[in-house]
Amino acid sequence: MRLLVLSDIHANLEALEACLEAAPAYDQVYNLGDIVGYGANPNEVTQRSRELGSVFVRGNHDKACSGLIDLSDFNPIAGMAAMWTREKLVEDHLRFLRALPHGPVSPLQDLQLVHGSPRDEDEYVLMRRDASEILAESASPITFFGHTHVQGGFWINDAAEEKGILEPRYPDKPGPQKFTVELQKNGRYLVNPGSVGQPRDGDPRAAFLLYDTKASQITFYRVPYDIHAAQKKIFAAGLPERLAIRLEEGR
Ligand code: ZN
Repeated sequence: MRLLVLSDIHANLEALEACLEAAPAYDQVYNLGDIVGYGANPNEVTQRSRELGSVFVRGNHDKACSGLIDLSDFNPIAGMAAMWTREKLVEDHLRFLRALPHGPVSPLQDLQLVHGSPRDEDEYVLMRRDASEILAESASPITFFGHTHVQGGFWINDAAEEKGILEPRYPDKPGPQKFTVELQKNGRYLVNPGSVGQPRDGDPRAAFLLYDTKASQITFYRVPYDIHAAQKKIFAAGLPERLAIRLEEGR
């Protein structure tokens, strides 16, 4: 199976379309949540995600924008964007977002999907120590997660004697790029495809990954997209300007 793993699209239609265009052939799409929030195309991106995907977990922005949680935990900019999104979404998409499942979801044996972490759907896994704990407790050898908008991840071997980070490295040139990691048989992995629609790891290009189960390979991708077009829509919608500016910074 060749699995396309997308996360944190955040209503950025330009970024999503660029990823789909650059993606190699795949059998199924796994969507790790935060389909909406921040960007200016929540209906279009929800529609496209529904057409693409069969396996989903919900993100905190999906919950906030569909009215499942109140906005008191959100910073003012995220809160304003969530309010705007809630008003903009058509009823059918609101219903779809409200019904998205709580992670972990396990579509295959030995694999689970979460938005934040297996122990808390809203946890940010950025530190190696948290990742090691999660990996040691984890029910499945491979966990795909999102939420941090940082592409890469963490691994340990079964005996927890060795551990490390997965950090895709791209030679310094523009254009779409990929970075392949061979999975070890006795390894346990916590892997983030990065954010399609609002990268925060310093690389403004849209991010995703492809997991080839037969070859035991994960390939990370970075794809340039029309950031200017996405920014123009954010300004035109009256969304906070910071949400447009950060797209070109990748922060
Ligand atoms: Zn997100």
